[in-house]
Order: sequence, then C-alpha cells, then structure tokens
Amino acid sequence: MRERQRVLVTGGAGLIGHRLCTRLLARGAQVVCVDDLSTGSEANLTDLCDDDGFTLIRHDVVDPLPALGAVDLVFHLACPPSPEYYLGRPVHTIRCASEGTRNTLEVARRSGARYVLASTSEVYGDPAQHPQVESYWGNVNSVGPRSVYDEGKRYAEALTMAYAREYGTDTSIARIFNTYGPGMRVDDGRVVPAFIDAALDGRPLTVFGDGTQTRSLCYVDDTVDGLMALGDSSWRDPVNIGNPHEMTVLDLAEIIVDATGGSRSVEHHPARVDDPVRRCPDIGVARRELKWTPRVSAEEGLRRTVSWFVGNRRHPVAAARAVADHAV
Ligand code: UDP
Repeated sequence: MRERQRVLVTGGAGLIGHRLCTRLLARGAQVVCVDDLSTGSEANLTDLCDDDGFTLIRHDVVDPLPALGAVDLVFHLACPPSPEYYLGRPVHTIRCASEGTRNTLEVARRSGARYVLASTSEVYGDPAQHPQVESYWGNVNSVGPRSVYDEGKRYAEALTMAYAREYGTDTSIARIFNTYGPGMRVDDGRVVPAFIDAALDGRPLTVFGDGTQTRSLCYVDDTVDGLMALGDSSWRDPVNIGNPHEMTVLDLAEIIVDATGGSRSVEHHPARVDDPVRRCPDIGVARRELKWTPRVSAEEGLRRTVSWFVGNRRHPVAAARAVADHAV
C-alpha cells in the first residue's frame, strides 16, 4: 500500500458518501470522489473541496470510469437512494447498480484494491424471515416498480462475488439498512426528511398505508463506522449494517413530532407498491467480525437531525458547512 492510502468513493456527494469522504480524509487518506451530482449535491462537498487530499470527478458511473490511477480501496455507493428517485429514473437506477458495479469492480481488479459494495436491505425484499440474517435469500418481486433497485442490487452482489471467484478480487458486500442524518435532502422523499419537513411546517405527516410497517433506522455516523470497519477488514461475505431498533412508521412519526414540537396530525395515503411490511437487521456478523455496533439511539439521532434541518433545510451551501461541523 502507498504511504497515503488512496480511496475511490462513488456517490461521495450523497448522505453516506459525504460523511465517508470526510472520515477518510480525517485519517489521512487521499479521496477520489466520483459523482454525477444527480441526487447528491455539490453543496454537500464544498467543505471537502478545500482539502488537498480530495478530488471530485463529475461522472456517471454507468459509463466506464476515466483513468484514475491506482487505488487501494473502492467504496461503490453511487445509486439513486430513495424510492422517489428510483421510481422516477428506473433505467438509470438499474444501470447504476449493474454497469456502475461492473465499472467500479474493474477499477478494483486492475488496482488490486479492496472493494466494498454498498448493497441494501432491499435485497431481502418483503422478508418472510425476521429479523433478516445474511443467509436469508429474500423475497423480491422481480417485475415490480422497486425491482430496478432491489434486483439491481442483487445483480450487483452476484457480480461482486463473480469477480471474487474468477479474478480473486478482494471484495465485500455491505447490506445497508435505512440510514438517516444531517445532510439529507429535504425533497428526497424518504420518510425521515418528509416527516421532519412536514412537522416543522405544521403540515400533517403523510403516512403511506396504515403506518404499522416497520423500519430500523441507523444514524449516518454509525453506518459510516460500519463501512470503514468493513473496508479495513478482510471479511468477504455479505454483512448487515443497520440498527436493530425496529419501529413502526407511526412510532417514528411520534418521535419526530416530539423532537420538533410540531404538528401531531397524520394523513394516510395509499401504501406504496411492494412496500416491505417489516425490516430489521440481525447484526451478529457485524458485531462478531467487524467489532461494530451502532451507538446512536433513534431519539438522539433524530434530535440531531431535526436540529440540523431547523437551521439548514432552506440553505444548501450553508447546509454543507453545517454537515461538516456535525461530522467533527
Ligand atoms: N413513508 C411514509 N411517508 C413518507 C415516506 C415514506 O409513510 O412520506 C413510509 C414508506 O411507505 C415506508 C417507510 O416509510 O414504509 C420508509 O420509507 P422510505 O422511503 O424512507 O424508505 P424505504 O425503506 O421504503 O426504502
């Protein structure tokens, strides 16, 4: 390895990618961030562009990557992150997961680098097994509207394992469960920013379906800790990165209302097609193999996220600086 580790992060302008780049730079790595800025934001990177270890390449990962020079570690995060986005650009989404994974695996193969695929709890689909362990094969509708994301990521996992088997590439797969935190786009459609924005504006919270469906929310710094631990390890099998504290969407509404002091009213809308009914990670593998466990409770993480939204949701550039402050 070079004296200074050189790391490729795709999707570095997104919620997780930005924090990951920040952490890597803080420990002395050089970071090459490849992002097409379609869902992430350049404002998210203003604080990083001043660091001489940081390079931003504006590029869509579905196209072969430009010559980057050798790298030691690759994190492939680039992909539209929320149902709102991936339902709006289904072809681009599945291409990020498929061609984007192939293009980044090629970088790792040529460099002899370690590779971390950002996969997702969506590979379990609407799970028939609960909580979800990595050995569970999932329950996915291959032709439903979500399939571009969940089947795309399943293909990405299969391709990653194929590179490991055929070329001996040093690969790993992080199955990331719902992650939230300061720096989320207010308009990205995911439940945390949607609820916080509505509560702060005094609008009713829009609940899809009856609100008894569950999610397990992981604070962004915990997710990034898990990804860093995986990148630094030699673990090769899929590993769940998530917080096993499971709650219903209605429970979440309650916590956000308490944290904002905002509107208590909810408005029910039709459930999303193929919306998973329950989701909760078993994190035994991550605890055992990575010595990783999430530390930030939902109440604390949501309080921090609300306080960030209060100050920044209308001002993206100031927001980027504030994300950096939160990250210290
Ligand atoms: N959800 C909701 N209202 C919203 C956005 C989402 O009730 O404004 C629900 C959604 O139907 C799902 C859960 O919240 O059951 C999490 O949705 P999100 O888009 O955050 O992530 P997902 O886990 O579905 O990818």
